[in-house]
Amino acid sequence: MLNGKTAIVTGSTSGIGLGIATAFATQGADIVMNGFSDADLIESTRARLEREYGVRVCYSSADMSVPEEVRRMAKLAHDTLGKVDIVVNNAGIQHVAPIDEQPDERWDAIIAINLSSAFHLVKAVLPGMKARNWGRVINVASAHGLVASPFKAPYVAAKHGLIGLSKTIAVEAAEYGITSNTICPGYVKTPLVEQQIADQAKAHGISPENVIRDVMLAHQARKRFVTVDEIAALAVFLSTDAAASITAAALAVDGGWTQH
Ligand code: NAD
Repeated sequence: MLNGKTAIVTGSTSGIGLGIATAFATQGADIVMNGFSDADLIESTRARLEREYGVRVCYSSADMSVPEEVRRMAKLAHDTLGKVDIVVNNAGIQHVAPIDEQPDERWDAIIAINLSSAFHLVKAVLPGMKARNWGRVINVASAHGLVASPFKAPYVAAKHGLIGLSKTIAVEAAEYGITSNTICPGYVKTPLVEQQIADQAKAHGISPENVIRDVMLAHQARKRFVTVDEIAALAVFLSTDAAASITAAALAVDGGWTQH
């Protein structure tokens, strides 16, 4: 479905990003992987995707909190894969604390990684997409891009901002065959959420089991975690020509949470 396309997936050494990169590879896209992890693990994942799906996969260690490094990753993609057709702005971090206890440094890091990196990456790849009259920008926000929860001020602010950025890209670039959409997952059990279960247990003074049942899935109509594969399948569909008229959308994949 994506033969001949090239994609940068930020934060694709783990969780949702790795799921999207793998799904893209299965559909024939060449990939730039990005994110932090053990070097041997990254190399074995990169080599496995190339071997199993017959696509080119390169890795960028760019830190999404540093605009220069975001631009370096875009250049690596152009130099090694020749073009960038699809970008998935997925890298993200979280810090759970009341506003009056949120460290300034965590606010700055979350805004930089979860929001500003998407601006810098799209700015770097948009001229090429416009020249080829085709492009897909897929932003991974969150249900917290649509609604707030306590103790997540920088995350909620960044994810709401990411939806605004995505809509602006969509209206600016529509005439060039470029779409920009935001996927808003409910809770997906990845390393990021494992950490939050522990943090929320501490913040609320309750057990991890109660955090899952009474906090995380309390508002979800469907009482189970969203899966990585469900998010990845939507990212693949948004990258196809069949999705050409879906743009500026914020698509909730949240078991009914934000409409409950
Ligand atoms: P994860 O912790 O498993 O993966 C995060 C990825 O981002 C990793 O590859 C990590 O190395 C990378 N990353 C972190 N900081 C980075 C930096 N400075 N530069 C480059 N890469 C960096 O988390 P996940 O759950 O897979 O989350 C992926 C995205 O999905 C995030 O944007 C998150 O906010 C969003 N999301 C997750 C959930 C969930 O329940 N897991 C729900 C809604 C939205």
